[in-house]
Amino acid sequence: MMAAVHPDRIRRLNQAVQGAGPVVYWMSRDQRVDDNWALIHAADMARQARVPLHILFCLTGSFGEACIRQYDFMMQGLVETWARARERGLCLRIRPGHPPDVVRSFARACNAGLVVTDFDPLRIKQEWKRELLQHLDIPVHEVDAHNIVPVWRVSDKQEYAARTIRPRIQRLLAEFLEPFPVWEALPEQDIPCVEPDGEDLMAGLEVDRTVLPVAGITPGYTGGMDRMHAFMAHGLDRYDRASRDPNANGLSRLSPWLHFGQIAAQRVVLEAVASPRTQGQQAFLEQIIIRRELADNYCLHNPHYDSLEGIPAWGRATLDKHRHDVREYVYSTDALEKAATHDSLWNAAQQEMRRTGIMHGYMRMYWAKKILEWSKTPEDALATAIRLNDRYGLDGRDPNGYVGVLWSMGGLHDRPWKERPVFGTVRFMSADGCKRKFDVHEYIGNNSP
Ligand SMILES: Cc1cc2nc3c(=O)[nH]c(=O)nc-3n(C[C@H](O)[C@H](O)[C@H](O)COP(=O)(O)OP(=O)(O)OC[C@H]3O[C@@H](n4cnc5c(N)ncnc54)[C@H](O)[C@@H]3O)c2cc1C
Repeated sequence: MMAAVHPDRIRRLNQAVQGAGPVVYWMSRDQRVDDNWALIHAADMARQARVPLHILFCLTGSFGEACIRQYDFMMQGLVETWARARERGLCLRIRPGHPPDVVRSFARACNAGLVVTDFDPLRIKQEWKRELLQHLDIPVHEVDAHNIVPVWRVSDKQEYAARTIRPRIQRLLAEFLEPFPVWEALPEQDIPCVEPDGEDLMAGLEVDRTVLPVAGITPGYTGGMDRMHAFMAHGLDRYDRASRDPNANGLSRLSPWLHFGQIAAQRVVLEAVASPRTQGQQAFLEQIIIRRELADNYCLHNPHYDSLEGIPAWGRATLDKHRHDVREYVYSTDALEKAATHDSLWNAAQQEMRRTGIMHGYMRMYWAKKILEWSKTPEDALATAIRLNDRYGLDGRDPNGYVGVLWSMGGLHDRPWKERPVFGTVRFMSADGCKRKFDVHEYIGNNSP
């Protein structure tokens, strides 16, 4: 029996007719074999056509601000994915090069009949797919394996805010928050499959090697699932309090694994909904479902997701009106990168990200808002925040990141607040406000260089 994937998770990107050859799953955003709707669909198609299934990952030499820190996390995860694929009799191949070229030549070489890939709203991934489609005469299926409710089922336009997308997602959850099917083995494939040498593959990359991998974090599916189980047991029920207190150590810290698709958000949500109903559980589900899927909705429908053109008109107008306001402090990107400001709370947040590759969600808002306050222009502020977030964050270069920065600096998905210098009516945050919420000295002490 086939494990049919909900048809609305799948988009057919062209009208070509499937050939007789193997199915190729071009794995990109969802770098796992477990709980992966794109792989499940590719396997279904291979079973149906009685053809082999190949998994291909294309390793690009550069990706935005990604440094060796992120590449190392990704590569270790891919090596585990290779091993888990072998256990299912599948082979993951990692090939360096420009993805559309690599997929095209791989598909030609194996005489593929169909390409299946996963969904990603970011510009570069969409461009790769467009480029691939120009030169491929076999069908390409795109599967949303990242969101619980496929982004194109939720809405066909940019949603205004969490309150407009929430009811849409909630209506569809019963349909899409389904358990993952048990993996059904494919007929034995006699494919030579060489274990990837991560070190060797990374040696050929021309990436910045100054931002080092993070110590004490285990990349890959097993590391992510271990973290998830620990959070379910010790963090979930107090998540609502911990989300406002960076010292409480009660967030999931799952974003690096979720970003690289090493674990599925849907698996995390299934675990969370099976836990007792608490305020913590409800608050967590709001973030991992509504806020996360809102970010994908935004990046899919707004090509300006990393520029001020992407913020609402009121946000642009108010930042413009206050463009020439006197700034008490102005810092260069370099000073900010080195956490060398007058504000020890801000410096601690930047140090947290430098050291651990992730920053507490509450501090991320403060961090970005202060960059706006201390930059010459809103444009400079945005560029700096995105650069630092993407360079140091293990979870950077993600729709959540672009949306988080635009929310903080431009009022995206927010509303106007009381008018003040530099920010205009964009919501303001202050160190005093933080002091009222949590012990800032403890946080600073925990995040000193
Ligand atoms: C300025 C700024 C920059 C950010 N940059 C990133 C980034 O680069 N990558 C990233 O994944 N998130 C980013 N976020 C969103 C959020 O802060 C992080 O997802 C969260 O801090 C990750 O830690 P966690 O896994 O412990 O989250 P938890 O609080 O445990 O939440 C669980 C998951 O829910 C999702 N989530 C939580 N909060 C949000 C949110 N506000 N928006 C969208 N999804 C959310 C994430 O997938 C997260 O891993 C940013 C937010 C801001 C304000």
